[in-house]
Amino acid sequence: GAPPVRTFADRSKIYMSDLESSLHYILRVEVGKFKVLEGERLRALKNFVSVLAKYYPGQPLGRNFLHSMDVWVPWQQRKSIPYSSLEAALNNRREGAVLPKKLTWVGCQGSEPHFRGFPCSLWILFHSLTVQAAQHNEYLQQKGGKYPQEILQAIRGYVKFFFGCRDCANHFEQMAAASMDQVKSMDEAILWFWNRHNRVNARLAGTASEDPRFPKIQWPPRDLCNPCHNEVEGAPVWNLGAILAFLKSHFSARNMVFNHMG
Ligand code: FAD
Repeated sequence: GAPPVRTFADRSKIYMSDLESSLHYILRVEVGKFKVLEGERLRALKNFVSVLAKYYPGQPLGRNFLHSMDVWVPWQQRKSIPYSSLEAALNNRREGAVLPKKLTWVGCQGSEPHFRGFPCSLWILFHSLTVQAAQHNEYLQQKGGKYPQEILQAIRGYVKFFFGCRDCANHFEQMAAASMDQVKSMDEAILWFWNRHNRVNARLAGTASEDPRFPKIQWPPRDLCNPCHNEVEGAPVWNLGAILAFLKSHFSARNMVFNHMG
């Protein structure tokens, strides 16, 4: 037959396939590297699952699944949980079917298998969680409080205790230790992740982890958000108000593509 037409994802969209594949990879691969979950690592897992259950931007089925995991994990009163019993719980959830059997990268598809994929989807998950949490907050008319720290520290704990790229985790922990505690609102949390992600992009530009088809840039580029780019006396500066509005729209549920036949 005819060779398959190679299609490229639309960079202005978020693909649910990437987010679902990130959940699969987190729960089945990264968490599964630990035969027994206990102590600080178990606490980090509980906190992260609880944030996922609250803010994961999925369809109801996916969210029900995360809710039931969120009930299951703390319900295990034991000081330690063998991964095998977590895995059994994953497999037994009726909704477990929402965890895809294989990984399908769409927006995170690299030009070679060793590029992009999971780390890309993890960034997208983190940005999406902070944006969903901000919108949830607005909805509930709740300001400040422990909200930004709940989600920021849960993400920090996941990276510290589970992210398989240990170099990445160490770099991220340095940034978190330097300033994460000072973040006071969900809007600041959204901007914190955007700014730190750009720092990572700057550090990695031109290195071996850069997919030549997806150069590391200071993001978003003009074609995604022109008003985000300002100039003061000829020097480029970001328009933070425009950035925040853009991030809230880019990582919103409305910008997510649900049924991509990847
Ligand atoms: P990614 O940087 O993964 O970005 C994914 C998508 O997010 C982009 O395609 C774009 O649509 C969007 N995006 C880009 N920039 C921003 C931004 N500023 N704000 C919001 N959205 C944005 N790799 C290393 O080699 N060394 C490290 O130390 C390292 N640290 C990491 C730390 C963390 C927490 C994570 C999640 C990953 C880290 N990585 C590190 C991996 C690296 O950052 C990339 O994820 C990987 O190289 C794949 O790059 P990518 O081209 O898919 O784009």
